[in-house]
Amino acid sequence: MNDSIRSQFPILHQHVNGKPLIYFDNAATSQKPLAVINAIEDYYKQYNSNIHRGAHHLAQMATEKYEDARKTVAQHINASEREINFVRGTTEAVNLVATSYGRKFIKAGDEIIVSEMEHHSNIVPWQMLCEEKGATLRVIPITDSGEIIFEEYLKLLSEKTKIVSIAYISNALGSIHPVKEIIRAAHEVGAVVFIDGAQALPHKKVDVKDLDCDFLGFSGHKVFAGTGIGILYGKEELLEKMNPYMGGGEMIKSVSFAGTTYNDLPYKFEAGTPHIEGGISLGAALNYINEIGLENISAYEDELLAYGTEKFLEVEGLRIVGTAKNKASVISFLVNDIHPYDLGVLLNEQGIAIRTGHHCCQPLMDRLKMEGTCRASFAFYNTKEEIDATANALKRAVKILS
Ligand SMILES: *Cc1c(COP(=O)(O)O)cnc(C)c1O
Repeated sequence: MNDSIRSQFPILHQHVNGKPLIYFDNAATSQKPLAVINAIEDYYKQYNSNIHRGAHHLAQMATEKYEDARKTVAQHINASEREINFVRGTTEAVNLVATSYGRKFIKAGDEIIVSEMEHHSNIVPWQMLCEEKGATLRVIPITDSGEIIFEEYLKLLSEKTKIVSIAYISNALGSIHPVKEIIRAAHEVGAVVFIDGAQALPHKKVDVKDLDCDFLGFSGHKVFAGTGIGILYGKEELLEKMNPYMGGGEMIKSVSFAGTTYNDLPYKFEAGTPHIEGGISLGAALNYINEIGLENISAYEDELLAYGTEKFLEVEGLRIVGTAKNKASVISFLVNDIHPYDLGVLLNEQGIAIRTGHHCCQPLMDRLKMEGTCRASFAFYNTKEEIDATANALKRAVKILS
């Protein structure tokens, strides 16, 4: 990738602690291109208004742009607009399904399956549901290299399994799970599958029809849009059967004390005034990455991953945590017995942003018998020069800390 792409990301062109910023914390949140920043600015400068209700020009314009964004999302993942629900993010998408689908369809004795390396947001809502219903949470074990053990997953599946919920790509280690096979096996026992797409959408093409997932959640802010916006995709026939998640304006057809009727999809799950500019920013972000092309993005990020792996391994004592065969551009690592936080602080002094800690995956860290890792996660606007600079900064930091 080149300078013309970096020129679209104003935030990258600054110095931190006297050094050019190197932003390697993309798995926590991504930076925003001008296309997204301008879309948000245009909204507030030109047509800020509440949507869906107004007869006036601004309301119509805001409604049109918001619904255009929904169309963009639908096309992007090969769904219909009725299946695209705007939510706050991946966390809310999981909670919505656990609540609206789970409360209605899960009974005592049922089983829900997650993997050992899920983000807390794909564990806790299921634990809450299991506790409420007397259901059981089962956990797919992983290998030391950070891959799920597929045969063990198959053993967990039974007619008791009602929901399987798993990330497409691990935020902590970058492992890409064989979700298509996972989904197919779950369907054979009649379970529905929720795919946590938070780390997949920024890196690869996700086609819900091809995967045949029942639900998919993702966060706008990880895919170059604003915060506080995300998507829950659900198969139409499942969303139709589910009760609303929240009650309020927008999600109703008519309200009376004799009884209220709910709105059609997708509005049934969108109570209250939504995050209008957030939705619009998500449409702008997806249009932007589609202009570059997800295949180009994936290929370039694979190069960064290979290059970064090689360069980081030149640092004495560095070991990579998570060496799955199929990986996204995430490198988790430890150096000797240096505390990840100390390395993070020294890198920050060199203007380099990485993440340290458990990455919202405490059960994974327990499994790997570590408290946390350092994590460098690359996006398509990162460069090999930044990797070189980081490898050098790591070598200096390790000397200081050893
Ligand atoms: C970030 C992330 C989440 C949570 O997303 P929010 O935007 O905080 O709701 C869930 N799963 C994975 C894999 C993530 O990377």
